[in-house]
Amino acid sequence: MSTLPPDPAAGAAVKAADRAHVFHSWSAQGLIDPLPVAGAEGSYFWDYDGNRYLDFASQLVNTNIGHQHPKVVAAIQEQAGKLCTLAPGFAVDVRSEAARLIAERTPGDLDKIFFTNGGAEAVENAVRMARLHTGRTKVLSTYRSYHGGTAAAIHLTGDPRRWASDTGAAGVVHFWGPFLYRSPFHAENEAQECERALAHLEQTVAFEGPQSIAAIILETVPGTAGIMVPPPGYLAGVREICDRHGIVFILDEVMAGFGRTGHWFAADHFGVTPDLLTFAKGVNSGYVPLGGVAINAEIAATFDQRPYPGGLTYSGHPLACASAVATLNAMAEERIVENAAEIGEKVIGPALREIAERHPSVGEVRGLGVFWALDLVRNKETREPLVPYNAAGADNAPMAEFAAACKRGGLWPFVNMNRTHVVPACTVTEAEVKEGLTALDEALTVADAHT
Ligand code: PMP
Repeated sequence: MSTLPPDPAAGAAVKAADRAHVFHSWSAQGLIDPLPVAGAEGSYFWDYDGNRYLDFASQLVNTNIGHQHPKVVAAIQEQAGKLCTLAPGFAVDVRSEAARLIAERTPGDLDKIFFTNGGAEAVENAVRMARLHTGRTKVLSTYRSYHGGTAAAIHLTGDPRRWASDTGAAGVVHFWGPFLYRSPFHAENEAQECERALAHLEQTVAFEGPQSIAAIILETVPGTAGIMVPPPGYLAGVREICDRHGIVFILDEVMAGFGRTGHWFAADHFGVTPDLLTFAKGVNSGYVPLGGVAINAEIAATFDQRPYPGGLTYSGHPLACASAVATLNAMAEERIVENAAEIGEKVIGPALREIAERHPSVGEVRGLGVFWALDLVRNKETREPLVPYNAAGADNAPMAEFAAACKRGGLWPFVNMNRTHVVPACTVTEAEVKEGLTALDEALTVADAHT
C-alpha cells in the first residue's frame, strides 16, 4: 500500500488539469467531478487526500488480477527494455505465446487469435469475419446488451447508450434475451423463460430470413446490462439454431471472460462453444490495452488463401502481449480463477442473499464467480425499479445517493441504472469481501429510504 503521505494540493492540480483538458467518455463535461487517484494495489486504490477505496467495480470490470500485480508489472518493464513496439506483420515471441495461452484456455477449436486494442474493436472484427465467412449481412443482438462504443459495436449494443449514435445501421436486428426477473415473455420459471426466449429467437430468425443472417452475437452472461445468467439450455438452444441455419455464433466474453465467472470463460459453465469469441479486459487486466477475437478452424480457413481485410497498427502490441502472458501464467500459478469460483459460491453469493432479505430495496440478487448484480427496486412485490430506465438528473437521485454512501464507507461501487454490481478482482480475499459487504449493507439503507 502507498507509503506516501496525503497531498491534497497535488490532487487539486491533477484535477484542475483534467478539467481544463481531458474530454471524458459518456459524460456531460461540465457536470462531472472525476476523483484524482494517486495509486492502487490489489483490491484497493487511493486518492491524494488519504482516502482509500475498496474497488468493488474492478475499474470497468477489468482488473481481474487486481491492481499492480508484481509479476505483470515486471513483465511490462522487462518487455519495455527489450522491444516496445513492432508492426503486426512480424512474428514476436510474446505475441505468439499470448496467442498460444489464450487458445489453450478458450473452449473447443477456437485456436486462432486476432488481436485488437480492446473489446469494441474485437466485436467490429468478429462481425466482419462472420459477414465475409457467410456472405450475409444481418447480425442479431439482444436489447439488454453492451458491445462497445465504436460504429458497429454501438449499433449492436442494446442499452440506451446506443440511442444517440443509432443511425439505424443496415443489418442490425435486436431481439429479447432471457431475463426471468423482468421476463419479456411473462414466464414464471426458468424452463419457461428458456423455451419462450428460444421460440422468440427462432421466430425472429424466420421473419428476418435465415439466409440473410450472418451472425447472432450474445454476451454469454450479459454484464453491463445486469449480469443476467441465462437459464440452463438457452445457449445450447441458440447454438442449435445457428447450426441449423448456417449462422455464425459469436459469444462476447469481453466482460465475462478470464476468470470473472469462476471459469476461464463463462461459456464453460454452459458447455457451449461459439464460432467466434471476443475478449479484452481480463486477458491482461487492462494493464495495457488489449482485446481480440478467438476464431474457430472453419472461419480461420476462410481466410487461409484469401486475405482478411482488417487490421490495426497496434494489433498484438508487444507490451500488451507481455502483460497478457504474465497475467495468464500468474492466474494459473496462483489459482486465481479457482479463487473467484470459491469466493463467489461460498462468500459473496450467500452474503448477498442474506443482505437482500434484510433490505426492502434489494429485489433480486443474481450472478456467479465475482460477477454479481443487485437489482434495486421501490417495491419488492411489483419489482418497480428504484429509478426509471435510463434515469438522469433528479430521477437518478436515489442511485446517486446510494453510490455516494458507498464511497463515504470506503467502497467504490459499480452502479448502472437501478443496479449495483459486486464485481471485485478475482484475487479478492474473504476479508476484503466482508469489508466491502459491510459498507454495501450500510449504503443500502440509503436506497431503502426510497422504497
Ligand atoms: N463487449 C462487452 C461485453 C463489454 O462489456 C464491453 C465493455 N464494457 C465491450 C464489449 C467494449 O469493450 P471496450 O470498452 O474495451 O471497447
